Amino acid sequence: MNGPNRHCIFCDLIQGAAEVSVCYEDANAMAFMDIQPVNLGHTLIVPKKHYESLKDVPRDVAMHLFDVAVTLAPVIQRASGCDDMNIVVNSGHQAGQNVFHYHVHLIPRRAEDNFDIALPFEGSTMPDRTFLDAMAARIIAGLRDPARQAAPHTTRAVRAG
Ligand code: AMP
Ligand code: ZN
Repeated sequence: MNGPNRHCIFCDLIQGAAEVSVCYEDANAMAFMDIQPVNLGHTLIVPKKHYESLKDVPRDVAMHLFDVAVTLAPVIQRASGCDDMNIVVNSGHQAGQNVFHYHVHLIPRRAEDNFDIALPFEGSTMPDRTFLDAMAARIIAGLRDPARQAAPHTTRAVRAG
């Protein structure tokens, strides 16, 4: 797998330089089968242009990829025979991103496939409401004025609460 600023396997796939099973393509996006699927039908939707993570993707491109996801989801459900599906984006190393070319996972789910994104998270506690309210207020302030957003150390205090 590749880290930031390293050789990009997905760019190779998009350019036809490596083997890939494409199931959708338009001017700006491509979708192909994940090489190591949770279940058969596990699909990755990628921008044709290289962007590493969510923070790098232009808004219109991000919206377009989700539009493609919404188009593909019912088709993949029928093709895979799975009624249920996870739509997942791992954005950044700490979030579990391994390939640093932004992508959206469409993961068809089967009973007892042992894949899990377990929420609520077992290892977390419910913070006091004041912490939830404070975080909501910080986000509202950030939407109004991104330059004045509070420093991230406050975020850690909320998580510990
Ligand atoms: P992530 O951890 O969100 O970055 O997911 C990367 C995904 O890319 C994994 O599910 C891999 O199985 C998949 N993957 C890696 N290399 C290839 C490849 N050459 N073709 C298709 N899928 C790939
Ligand atoms: Zn790339």
